[in-house]
Amino acid sequence: MSVVQPLLDLQEIDGRIRDLQQEIRDIPQRKAQEQERLNGAREALARAQAELKNAQLRVNEAELEVKARRDKIQALKQNQVLLKTNKEFQMYNLEIAKIEGEIESYESRQIAAMDDVIPVKHRVAEAQAKLEEDQTVVDGYTAELDERLAVVQNELAATEAERAEAAKKVTPQFMLYYERLRTKRWPVVVSIGADCVCNGCHLVQPPSVGQMVRRNQGIVACQMCGRILFMNQ
Ligand SMILES: [Zn+2]
Repeated sequence: MSVVQPLLDLQEIDGRIRDLQQEIRDIPQRKAQEQERLNGAREALARAQAELKNAQLRVNEAELEVKARRDKIQALKQNQVLLKTNKEFQMYNLEIAKIEGEIESYESRQIAAMDDVIPVKHRVAEAQAKLEEDQTVVDGYTAELDERLAVVQNELAATEAERAEAAKKVTPQFMLYYERLRTKRWPVVVSIGADCVCNGCHLVQPPSVGQMVRRNQGIVACQMCGRILFMNQ
């Protein structure tokens, strides 16, 4: 058995810890990506709502035009009773008839505008339903991610406890070297084959290094990357 076997055991646990930590880091990003999936549906709804607003605006505009002309006719009729000559009276009638013609035109415009509102209202309802549907899917997936996060956090806590136990079996000076290197290189402990190639950086080690690893008496570091070398014997 290799003299660095306790370190290999520790490294195996550290590998699991790294994966769990990575997953914990990734979850918020995955949740954000899920939320982004709603953007398309949100934009479609906003477009349909803007369209509806415009369509309703056209209805209101036509309505205001009609009202303004009705008021005008009423004012003309009020003045008409005060007129002295028949000619003036006839002129007022002509004016009123002209305005009534305009009212008719605005009323048909208003009806057409109201007809336009109906399909747009359908589009708004459809876009609303689509967004709600997408929201349900995203909420479901987000809840799954939250559940997963809780599971991973528990697993991490258990694995860290496992690591504390495994660390007790490692010689302190081995531990010191391993911990120092762990922040810079991963994995820290790598095998070398009969060809004496470091499996971390692929540098061929001088024969003396190969011999020291084979002797299996302490930490032997790669000449290039500093990783701890071991040989499967
Ligand atoms: Zn190396």
